[in-house]
Amino acid sequence: MLIILKIGTTNKQILKIIQGIEHLGFKARISKGSQRTAVLVHGNIGYLDAAYFNKFDGISKIIHISERLKMVYRENNPSDSIVNLGDGVKFGGKESQIIAGPCSVEDKDMIMETAGFLSSRGVKILRGGAFKPRTSPYSFQGLQEKGLVYLADAAAKHNMKIVSEAMDEYSLSLMAETADMIQIGARNMQNYSLLKKCGQLDKPILLKRGFNATLDDVLVSLEYILAEGNPNVVLCERGIRMYGASKQRSILDFIGLSDFKSVSHLPIIVDPSHCTRDRSKVPNLAKSAMVYGCDGLMVEVHPNPDQALSDGPQSLDFNQFDKMLIDLKKLSKMSEKPLKIFD
Ligand code: PEP
Ligand code: MN
Repeated sequence: MLIILKIGTTNKQILKIIQGIEHLGFKARISKGSQRTAVLVHGNIGYLDAAYFNKFDGISKIIHISERLKMVYRENNPSDSIVNLGDGVKFGGKESQIIAGPCSVEDKDMIMETAGFLSSRGVKILRGGAFKPRTSPYSFQGLQEKGLVYLADAAAKHNMKIVSEAMDEYSLSLMAETADMIQIGARNMQNYSLLKKCGQLDKPILLKRGFNATLDDVLVSLEYILAEGNPNVVLCERGIRMYGASKQRSILDFIGLSDFKSVSHLPIIVDPSHCTRDRSKVPNLAKSAMVYGCDGLMVEVHPNPDQALSDGPQSLDFNQFDKMLIDLKKLSKMSEKPLKIFD
């Protein structure tokens, strides 16, 4: 249950409401938005009769929300959440960023070169996998610890933030020390024990939508992180599986993106690279995502995509990235949420 308070409700009135909730054996959590304050009732099993609250002053309305999902809903936090990576790099509200970089960190030089190029274009967040979830055990699995060091060195040199994927508790503990934002990949979207660990960290999380995940599945996974106390979560739409398709192609769910924005206060970005397996399709998808009001993009960029050790076919080279930026800049000028790289 969510209790929306009237504007101007006093602290004394709020305290009485909280005591009333605790009297029932439940917990109360206050959520202060820019326009209104709400009290979330935790721990009630089953239906709680709103009439109980008639005796309290200062209540504007009471919303019954699902028992499984409380914190992820917009009702709980009417204004958009802002996820802050530090140094003015933020997602949400009017803040929109491009994350870019190779699928995997392959060696020291290629990540340094990529970071140099991207930062010269204004990109503030460098991506690169050190621990890679591959569909074949015989494929390149990432440089692991060494890859993370190379990524961190390249980002430090070029004054960028880093995002990289954690696949398990071990890589999560390394990311917690090194990364500015921790990616949980599509394959782990429903790894609830890993999500709980993410919720206990004081670090922004980038959760990628699972291949078969419905909007409801996604909301549950986000709730797992929020419920453990970490409010800094960004969702990434990366395409859902199209059965029977060749080239492992999937479909970017733009309608899902708008539905998500209306039900949740959390930022959502779009990864136009992983759904296509074809780099020529990436720029149009990125532009469409902006039209649909995403809070940012994550794009795979590689100095020499044809030689890439993972996801080469969908990675843009530097020229292709530049070309895409020309169009994104035009769109950005018309957008309510201009991409920060053009500032
Ligand atoms: C990636 O970002 O390189 C990746 C493996 O993504 P996903 O989990 O969406 O497949
Ligand atoms: Mn990839």
